[in-house]
Amino acid sequence: MSNSRKDLTTASGAPVGDNQNSITAGNNGPTLIQDVHLLEKLAHFNRERVPERVVHAKGAGAHGYFEVTNNDIANYTKADFLSEAGKQTPMFIRFSTVAGELGSADTVRDPRGFAVKFYTEEGNYDLVGNNTPVFFIRDAIKFPDFIHTQKRDPKTHLKDPNMAWDFWSLSPESLHQITILHSDRGIPATFRHMNGYGSHTYKWVNHDGEAFWIKYHFKTDQGIKNLDPKLADQLAGENPDYHLEDLYQAIEDGNHPSWTLKVQIMPEADAQHYRYDPFDVTKVWSHQDYPLIEVGRMVLNRNPNNYFEEVEQAALSPANFVSGIEASPDKMLQGRLFSYSDAHRYRIGANHQALPINRAKSNVNHYQRDGNMRFDGNGGGSVNYEPNSYDGPKETPENKIKPFEVSGFADSVSYDNDDHYSQPRALFRDIMNYDERERLIKNFADHMSGVRDERIIARQIKEFYRVSPDLAEGVAKELNTEVPEEVKE
Ligand code: NDP
Repeated sequence: MSNSRKDLTTASGAPVGDNQNSITAGNNGPTLIQDVHLLEKLAHFNRERVPERVVHAKGAGAHGYFEVTNNDIANYTKADFLSEAGKQTPMFIRFSTVAGELGSADTVRDPRGFAVKFYTEEGNYDLVGNNTPVFFIRDAIKFPDFIHTQKRDPKTHLKDPNMAWDFWSLSPESLHQITILHSDRGIPATFRHMNGYGSHTYKWVNHDGEAFWIKYHFKTDQGIKNLDPKLADQLAGENPDYHLEDLYQAIEDGNHPSWTLKVQIMPEADAQHYRYDPFDVTKVWSHQDYPLIEVGRMVLNRNPNNYFEEVEQAALSPANFVSGIEASPDKMLQGRLFSYSDAHRYRIGANHQALPINRAKSNVNHYQRDGNMRFDGNGGGSVNYEPNSYDGPKETPENKIKPFEVSGFADSVSYDNDDHYSQPRALFRDIMNYDERERLIKNFADHMSGVRDERIIARQIKEFYRVSPDLAEGVAKELNTEVPEEVKE
């Protein structure tokens, strides 16, 4: 007779007679290896964790939908999910901190991941961004080194401002991002009260084959709210899961957070003469030059039912494009196109895209077979090679990328533009008010007070001086030091 739905069973489906007492040789004797239920229980428990993400380990996820509100967007991209106002697409989002481990506190000064998976009718589109419009570096070759400086020192196993500021002071392209990070926005009040940005430049292609460069901005409908650093420190001790709890509870209470998605659209030819390199992820495009255009609204209305299955196994990758959306030559994006999917293959396996949270809701037809943990039918008996004479899935040439011209020598070279200063200067001088500038200076100085090597302090103050003498002098004063005389020349 088969087990009833409520009968406890082993993973292989056999009824379990006793789940409270292991089998021993006599009442007080040793445990028998014959207790296979005990062996399975302990062995499976040992394997409950998959490797934690090297970055963005601590996070929260939520389900929702995206609704297009602007019919004109279809003039710029043939992406089906953006084709007409009113069209809704189910989506999933994962918010995260970057540097901390899986159990780390939420209310720390750190960028926040803002990674959205749109389950479109033409496959999954993942927009894997942050709550900042720029990044610390602009070439993926520097990424592992940068992250080492945000993690633990190899000797002390402690977080070390000396490493962070050594790297930043030697990488002046980081100035824009560290200014945002040490501003009030560096510690958002909740995940609901921050903007999201695609950060990179992407390419849209429309039905006529015209291309446009795109920057994505998710503006929070809850308004921007940040945490005072002292309160944030206190919360980190009292409730390290403060942001996870806030998001879960808001959705549970029917208080569904939403964001308005806007884009900046640059005609393809403008890229050659824009005043900044439009593919350099340490730069923004001025809103005056390319105003924000509304696309639609994202609403989060459902909590995951099982955290591990839906959030820990979520595998978002900037390499998941749909027809009408393509990569740009951004050197940081180009690296991420490889590294995200590669991280998922390592963490959860070659078949991670078949897991329920990652599986496209449209048809998936390909010739990939086998691999660890193949549980989706593995293509059954269908043909597993192409070309074939047996009616296997066929290419659709209309979905080829838009060809683009490349020229020049293959070489390891930097971006041409080395103006790392004018955009953080605009933020410091024109966007921040007096109080915000004072708090920025204090936040910089607080973090830099942990730097042991005076050469690093002097070098960073020199870089700050190039952003603004007021900034350099303010930080130097807080650190009880001087702006070096030669810097002022
Ligand atoms: P705008 O005045 O049009 O835009 C300024 C932007 O700054 C707004 O989007 C505002 O966001 C945002 N902002 C305000 N305070 C902060 C902060 N502490 N950290 C990060 N962003 C903040 O000016 P421009 O487009 O000419 O840009 C000027 C400077 O503003 C840039 O150099 C850049 O540092 C910063 N910025 C620009 C963005 C862009 O895409 N152009 C995006 C974000 C920042 P909100 O709308 O929420 O108030």
